[in-house]
Amino acid sequence: MTRSRIRPGARRREWFVTAAHGMYARADNETVRVPTADVHLKRLGESQTACGESTLGWQVFWLADPAACAELCRRCVAVIREGRPQAAKV
Ligand SMILES: [Zn+2]
Repeated sequence: MTRSRIRPGARRREWFVTAAHGMYARADNETVRVPTADVHLKRLGESQTACGESTLGWQVFWLADPAACAELCRRCVAVIREGRPQAAKV
């Protein structure tokens, strides 16, 4: 999975990798936080993932690369690919 740092002023329409839990790990010769729970996508400032999960208390990790989405929640990827702003609540 490609990891892009969250840069200041990131556009609110960009999708970020998010998960309920994370841990520190070494990657590319630096220590980074990586998700250890199911990996979803969300936009900054929103309280739900693309698939409609509440992200209360969740961590945001890095800017998502939709082309490298093997580890991502399939429902989130489907919502983004279909261009819907957010999944309907069930
Ligand atoms: Zn999801």
